[in-house]
Amino acid sequence: MKQSNICPKCQSSDVIRIPAFKGTSTSSLIQLTKWGTKFTFFERYICTSCGFIEHYAILDEKGWQKWLDEQKETGSLDSNFV
Ligand SMILES: [Zn+2]
Repeated sequence: MKQSNICPKCQSSDVIRIPAFKGTSTSSLIQLTKWGTKFTFFERYICTSCGFIEHYAILDEKGWQKWLDEQKETGSLDSNFV
């Protein structure tokens, strides 16, 4: 839906984007570490015809890139790190 603006479930083009809420809201947060010391954000695309929702991590977030680089360095991506 992010690229096409078309809902894959009902083919509607009534798709809206809900941006990530940063600051004190936790509604757009993804916890990356067991103890909650690292987070990243995601945004949502919602079909207003059927209600289908897609989530997308914001890939250019600094915290996300740093965390991802650390996982690659330590080879942790294949393990169940949570
Ligand atoms: Zn739909």
